[in-house]
Amino acid sequence: MNILGRGLLAVTNRSFVRNVITGTRPGRALSTRFVAGETLEQAIAVAKEANAKGATVSLDHLGEHVTDRGQAEAARDDYLACLDAIGEHGLDGNISVKLSQLGMGLDDDLAAVSLDQLAERAAAVGTTVSVDMEESDVTSLTIDIYSAAQKRHGNLGLAVQAYLHRTKQDLDVIMPLGGHVRLCKGAYAEPADIAYQSRDEVNTAFDQLTHLLMGDDGVKPAIASHDTDRLDVAASLVANRSGPYEYQMLYGVRTGLQETMLAAGDPLRIYVPYGVAWYPYLTRRMAERPANISFFMRAALSRS
Ligand SMILES: Cc1cc2nc3c(=O)[nH]c(=O)nc-3n(C[C@H](O)[C@H](O)[C@H](O)COP(=O)(O)OP(=O)(O)OC[C@H]3O[C@@H](n4cnc5c(N)ncnc54)[C@H](O)[C@@H]3O)c2cc1C
Repeated sequence: MNILGRGLLAVTNRSFVRNVITGTRPGRALSTRFVAGETLEQAIAVAKEANAKGATVSLDHLGEHVTDRGQAEAARDDYLACLDAIGEHGLDGNISVKLSQLGMGLDDDLAAVSLDQLAERAAAVGTTVSVDMEESDVTSLTIDIYSAAQKRHGNLGLAVQAYLHRTKQDLDVIMPLGGHVRLCKGAYAEPADIAYQSRDEVNTAFDQLTHLLMGDDGVKPAIASHDTDRLDVAASLVANRSGPYEYQMLYGVRTGLQETMLAAGDPLRIYVPYGVAWYPYLTRRMAERPANISFFMRAALSRS
């Protein structure tokens, strides 16, 4: 992440800025570019539209780092309702969860049991569960909880971050478990001893990990990027693959590219976030792209 992005994340973590963005119309309007809506119904409508265009979806009921068991249980129940809706509407989609939203860090056992329950319900409606990767202080715990659930149920997948020095080693543990492995660059501000800092280093690591994943037919690589150079590397490896694979992109980001890829018949999954807890997700999307920062600051400064 560049210095502007880091600065932006530092500013947006202040409660004053959070209140201005979440409490004003321009701030909420900004969220609609990247978030499907605040309700499950709105997310389902967006998912249906994406399916109609030929994309699969991953529904993310936004939330992270809950502070009590009640919130963690409510998040699990929201995801169970989301899985039921996927079944009822016959959607071609799965769910994406953050373990800190299910209570990891507060009560790790609760998070593990909830992930089991989600995997069971997902199996009942014929779909899968993706686990997002969060900050580096929970990488090991996330892999442990994911691995236990994947061994028991076999219908999960995990995100890995190319910017972490440790990711290649982590894949030694993750890939033998099968499932889908979502490769992304990484969205958090991490220190230099843990993560590559320069764009070139992150891109090089991403391409190396793409080769590793696309070279193993036992896993389903999900190449999650809007960077055409990264996508071209993955595309160059498709011909030698007999296992499944897909590309993944975020709702509202490079929609023109998404349409071009769908028109070309590329397998594309769109990550569709929804819910009232959209603020931290929005700040990460803002920080990824300097051009978004001016939008953000305008929204922060104009109260209506
Ligand atoms: C499906 C999916 C799931 C993800 N899951 C995780 C996860 O679990 N954990 C995690 O840490 N990160 C996750 N990420 C975020 C990821 O780590 C990156 O921060 C993000 O995808 C930007 O990197 P990029 O590969 O698109 O490349 P970049 O070089 O950042 O972007 C390439 C181009 O895409 C466009 N673009 C990218 N981001 C934006 C934006 N926010 N607004 C407008 N245009 C933009 C720009 O044109 C940019 O030049 C996920 C990303 C995707 C696509």
